[in-house]
Amino acid sequence: MPFTVAIVGRPNVGKSSLFNRLVGTRLSITDDAPGVTRDRIYARAEWLTKTFAVIDTGGIEIGDAPFLEQIKQQALVAINEADLIVFVVDSRSGLTDDDNVISKMLYQTDKKVIVAVNKVDNVDLKNSIYEFYALGFGDPIAISSNHGIGIGELLDQIVAEM
Ligand code: GDP
Ligand code: MG
Repeated sequence: MPFTVAIVGRPNVGKSSLFNRLVGTRLSITDDAPGVTRDRIYARAEWLTKTFAVIDTGGIEIGDAPFLEQIKQQALVAINEADLIVFVVDSRSGLTDDDNVISKMLYQTDKKVIVAVNKVDNVDLKNSIYEFYALGFGDPIAISSNHGIGIGELLDQIVAEM
């Protein structure tokens, strides 16, 4: 099994956009289209000399389960299958109750959790990362999946854990 990174977070924070950025293609479907198959949520990523697997847990559909059940199940997949978890949150909406639900699940694992604050599309939005210290996973990093900002720093932190 390769070193595996799982991307978790509530809908619309940009998990699939980040996944596509990390694996270098537009494999995963953004906007949470239903019926995403497993081969679209697992892919290989490379950085420097390292190769690892990435899982877009948001693409995992659990039947008709209610919303909260879905994100809990996705967090469980991350906890069980990953070596490292990237917890994506949204700088525009700020910290939400659903983010806190996910963080409580992630407290149950000893695995490394990196908080990636997405949609920090320009430097003026950088201060929006501070409230995410409250999640308790250390220094959040500012990224913009759409603009490719902060992705190198995130990848550096991922491979440093391998
Ligand atoms: P998911 O539900 O977490 O997989 O989120 P998606 O990747 O489908 O993205 C949800 C929406 O957020 C889409 O409209 C994306 O274009 C948008 N989005 C994703 N990343 C960024 C970003 O870095 N900046 C901005 N402004 N929008 C983003
Ligand atoms: Mg998605």
